[in-house]
Amino acid sequence: MDRRKFLKSAGIGAAAATAVAAPAIAQTAPEVKWRLASSFPKALDTIFGAAEVMAKRVASLTDNKFQIRVFAGGEIVPAFQVLDAVQNATIEMGHTASYYYIGKDPTFAFDTAVPFGLNCRQMNAWMLNGGGLQLLREFFKEYNVYNIPCGNTGVQMGGWFRKEIKTVEDLKGLKFRVGGFAGQVLAKLGVVAQQIPGGDIYPALEKGTIDAAEWVGPYDDEKLGFHKVAKYYYYPGWWEAGPMLSAYVNTKAWESLPPAYQSALEAACAEANTWMMAKYDAGNPAALKRLIAGGAQLRPFPREVMQASFNAANELYAETNAKNPKFKKIFDSYMAFRDEQISWSRVAEASFDSFMSGATRPAAKAAAKKG
Ligand code: CA
Repeated sequence: MDRRKFLKSAGIGAAAATAVAAPAIAQTAPEVKWRLASSFPKALDTIFGAAEVMAKRVASLTDNKFQIRVFAGGEIVPAFQVLDAVQNATIEMGHTASYYYIGKDPTFAFDTAVPFGLNCRQMNAWMLNGGGLQLLREFFKEYNVYNIPCGNTGVQMGGWFRKEIKTVEDLKGLKFRVGGFAGQVLAKLGVVAQQIPGGDIYPALEKGTIDAAEWVGPYDDEKLGFHKVAKYYYYPGWWEAGPMLSAYVNTKAWESLPPAYQSALEAACAEANTWMMAKYDAGNPAALKRLIAGGAQLRPFPREVMQASFNAANELYAETNAKNPKFKKIFDSYMAFRDEQISWSRVAEASFDSFMSGATRPAAKAAAKKG
């Protein structure tokens, strides 16, 4: 080919490519404005705040082109109807705890926490590298939801009780606000379990509509003020060893996003997932000290109560597995993973934690005396 002719045709080609490329770039970075309904009250800057952290990062990664406006529980959607709102495309996104929807199918619980289940690290390991996310996405697809891990509280406290729990008998007839599948386990031990959104628990406990309530842990519980109306603070929250929060995206809305925005959203959720656990871990120790100084009476659940609850949970799992194949499919993966994790953890992590817990105790006591 003649060199001059080649340059000329190449030049035309380049000009044509530029003319085509400009609108193509505009299309890959469109203005997108979404609404997100959280299940949580604004006052809880960690569990609610994670959605804001995520939305801010999505905006900054997309040059403010992809905006997600975050609404608190009840603002545009009732706290426990986030799933329905995303499923029906009333809103594009939600931030919630999937175990609020176990009334539709108990399988939802695996996306948050199940009694005597995985802790935060184990949950992340199962989700990201143990097949959990894939199994849950298969399940959520039926609800038009693309779920993305977006936060964790770590092991929770057992909650606030007006009366001491000394035996399994003490649980009989107790009206207890408790999250998720644990309500059905505790029902086997005589508890009258209640699901109440975070923002509505305090008035119910204050009025005596309920006898006891659990939420998350010291950092949140202090803000919600439970210690003012129930002084016995029990641990551990065996029903929530590592409850994960999820961002829900309507599947059609998800598919409508340019790939770069999908990546931005996934990365921002991963950041919020880490951020939430870190904020709780950093804030809980001081909050617990303040609660104790303010009169909270710390109590471990008696061994007998823990064992009876463990047995009741296993009984409930066997019953649910027998009638719900979707539940069983995820249960088998989740529990096999849990047992493997515990057998490994027993060697290094648990033995180290156990040693450190004892070795630092006198120093902690001295610090408490000074404080
Ligand atoms: Ca809880």
